[in-house]
Amino acid sequence: TELSHIRNFSIVAHIDHGKSTLADRLIQSTNTVAARDMKAQLLDAMDIERERGITIKANTVRIEYKADDGETYILNLIDTPGHVDFAYEVSRSMRAVEGSLLVVDSTQGVEAQTLANVYQAIDANHEIVPVLNKIDLPAADCARVAEQIEDVIGIDASNALQVSAKSGIGIHETLEAIVTRLPAPKGDVTKPLTAMLVDSWYDAYLGVVVLVRIMDGLLKKGDRVKMMQNGSIHVVDRIGVFRPAMQDVKELGPGEIGFITAQIKQVRDTRVGDTITHEKKGVDKALPGFKPSQPVVFCGLFPVDAAEFEDLRDAIEKLALNDASFSYEMETSAALGFGFRCGFLGLLHLEVIRDRLEREYDIDLITTAPSVIYHVYMRDGSMTELHNPADMPDLTLVDHIEEPRIKATILVPDEYLGDVLKLCQDRRGIQMDLTYAGTRAMVVYDLPLNEVVFDFYDRLKSVTKGYASFDYHLMGYREDALVKMSILVNDEPVDALSMMVHRDRAEMRGRGMVEKLKELIPRHMFKIPIQAAIGGKVIARETLSAMRKDVTAKCYGGDATRKRKLLDKQKAGKKKMRQFGKVDIPQEAFINALKMD
Ligand code: GDP
Ligand code: MG
Repeated sequence: TELSHIRNFSIVAHIDHGKSTLADRLIQSTNTVAARDMKAQLLDAMDIERERGITIKANTVRIEYKADDGETYILNLIDTPGHVDFAYEVSRSMRAVEGSLLVVDSTQGVEAQTLANVYQAIDANHEIVPVLNKIDLPAADCARVAEQIEDVIGIDASNALQVSAKSGIGIHETLEAIVTRLPAPKGDVTKPLTAMLVDSWYDAYLGVVVLVRIMDGLLKKGDRVKMMQNGSIHVVDRIGVFRPAMQDVKELGPGEIGFITAQIKQVRDTRVGDTITHEKKGVDKALPGFKPSQPVVFCGLFPVDAAEFEDLRDAIEKLALNDASFSYEMETSAALGFGFRCGFLGLLHLEVIRDRLEREYDIDLITTAPSVIYHVYMRDGSMTELHNPADMPDLTLVDHIEEPRIKATILVPDEYLGDVLKLCQDRRGIQMDLTYAGTRAMVVYDLPLNEVVFDFYDRLKSVTKGYASFDYHLMGYREDALVKMSILVNDEPVDALSMMVHRDRAEMRGRGMVEKLKELIPRHMFKIPIQAAIGGKVIARETLSAMRKDVTAKCYGGDATRKRKLLDKQKAGKKKMRQFGKVDIPQEAFINALKMD
């Protein structure tokens, strides 16, 4: 295809502003998919994505559009992930296209992820077409939202499109705007092959499928290609485009976006952002800016039933096939037995993986406290990365500890600002900026990541009744007074509950934990001390009193054994317990004890 007849674009939006609906509408109105095959949210494949309304893996579709000028254009839409955890993948896929539709819900206005995503589009030098969506709703206020786009983002919104993706208003205008307002890609077919690896995923039938954007040169079936990151050589056995079903083509040229398969076994060999060239007569300089995405949040995953360990291993290996940013290694815990220490791009990523393990693979899991990576500087001058509080070295050997900090941007209606400031302050935040856009405040905080990984989103949502939006990125490491807090149940340390905390907050967290555990652990026939300790020093303590035998005897009455068996059975079905020494701790205790109020 002629470069002048190609347009490559992505859609950027805050969650729920209508990105998927608009994509569906563009696909449908160009007859890319037969009406009978059209199902809502075609691009969101996985169940969890559908349920949570988020798009995790970038997807793509090639649309043919006959424009008002009588010419037929190829429009390639890349659907980027919509969540902060995947910011790096978003930034890479943005570099594969020349323009973006900026979708803003005209009843809501600009939100935190609108900002984060549009800044990435601006960074990638995109031409940006603002789209005010949901104009069918009575609450739509296009003038106000256009003004907000200009004020807050600083781009011209005077010719923003007015669209209802749901009812189909403004779709023709959107297609015309893509053709007339977005630039055609550049590239040179006579130059050696340079292709950007935009995304990759594992397919049970095809092996690894690689999404590529050709910058220069020509890529054909049978070509021997090289991944420039690791130098591995592969033979292209299939080449094609997504419409959105796979359709084979002979070749892909400059400006085009399509897929290849090449007998690649693991997505790990296909890093997003890598450059693909020919083995012979290839380029020797890769595209700039490649860096592999790194896990930042770690936690232990253990089967509730130790017999399910092998099942868990299989499931984790399968998931990792399709997700290069998810890392894992085997871990043994004195309390929980065999499991895995897993690394994630962020909290949402953690939740998605945990959900999939439980749902798709039907494994009950115990998740230990999420932890970030601490930099522990030793007295001898060396530094170790601490991924697991259980591995904390002897304190007498430690000089100081640094923790990761984030820059968080929160947009919130005025009336909730006070509560948001308090929440950030409580989490050791340092305010960096506070500005207003109409009746909404935008506040920027410097926060320790470890205060955010647990339940910050949940708390933020609840104090603002769901009206706040949130986005963050890592800033770097800073020293602080951090200590490891251990939890002892019946005088035995439960390593899965140990965590790193700030010294000034240790006593409060410790007291909160032991009080919660007292509620969460059922009574036993003996009394159980529950303690929080730093080093050898107990900082909080509760005692769970013993069950009184006479009371239990009475309440069972009559045919005690039968009733009891029945009760025990019901209990086993409802409550998954783990035994620690002589004490049974229910599964929920691990997660609930860590929640802060
Ligand atoms: P995404 O998270 O940005 O992909 O948003 P979705 O496309 O999933 O849309 C979120 C919700 O808004 C869904 O319930 C859609 O049906 C609804 N929606 C999307 N576009 C419109 C629109 O133009 N008008 C109305 N009334 N609802 C819309
Ligand atoms: Mg969506």
